Amino acid sequence: MHQRSRRERLEHIGAVLVVGSGKGGVGKSTVSVNLAISLAKTGARVGLLDGDAYGPSIPMMVGVRKRVGAKSEAILPLAERRDLAAEKKIQPLLRYGVKLMSVGFFIGEEQAVAPLPDALGMLMRQLLFSVNWGELDYLIIDLPPGTSEPQATLCREFELSGALLVTTPQDIARIDTAKAVTMFQRMSVPILGVVQNMAGLLCPHCGQMVEIFPSSAEPRAQLDDLPLLGRIPLDPVAVTNGDKGYPIVVSLADSPVAMVFSDISAQI
Ligand code: ADP
Repeated sequence: MHQRSRRERLEHIGAVLVVGSGKGGVGKSTVSVNLAISLAKTGARVGLLDGDAYGPSIPMMVGVRKRVGAKSEAILPLAERRDLAAEKKIQPLLRYGVKLMSVGFFIGEEQAVAPLPDALGMLMRQLLFSVNWGELDYLIIDLPPGTSEPQATLCREFELSGALLVTTPQDIARIDTAKAVTMFQRMSVPILGVVQNMAGLLCPHCGQMVEIFPSSAEPRAQLDDLPLLGRIPLDPVAVTNGDKGYPIVVSLADSPVAMVFSDISAQI
């Protein structure tokens, strides 16, 4: 059992929430972005850290294509990070009421080789301290898929308020998500629940949910015993709008999918 008390608490940040998944492509970044904006819409002060160095897609999802406002020189030696004056820190971008920072700004858009796992942990640590997050009610961290770095560094060194797991209904995704659940439990990070994404298709004609994955996924206690925070249907509009930088809670604020996100934000 890990000693939570030895972990560092981030000053001026109410809750640090991590969004993880076992597999890539299940909609983890989509959930992180829409959840962050939904929370901001309630009046909360929200930051979003895109920690997925293998596929930093959040900048594109909110319409940021360039490495604006962030320079790698701004990443400082650890010893100096805490004492930085606010004006010397890296300024996050403000989009849709959310303060945003991405590891993608530091590794180059078309860099073929991802940083080594250890470097990822260090990069996250530095971004947590070197970015001028200001006062936040929530900092949401979009993690890469899997259970290695930077997850291990974050869980070991920081007081995380909770983890949300994103999965699809498919057994192949659920198996890997169950592994992520086990990792968070081992590291004594509270798990707030599971978001099931791509759970059926919302028929554009009749508005009914069409189930597209078989409902015969094997029972998995690690997942099934956790609270189900919401089921998000596949929505073709979400893809096209999302690729253009308009998250669904912005472009279709009254849609059923946006309602699911506001329901999830009310539970955390
Ligand atoms: P991950 O972060 O798990 O790799 P993403 O959030 O980047 O996954 O999603 C992968 C792709 O699937 C993106 O193009 C995204 O727009 C799309 N997508 C995610 N969730 C949905 C959904 N509910 N409906 C339609 N498209 C979705």
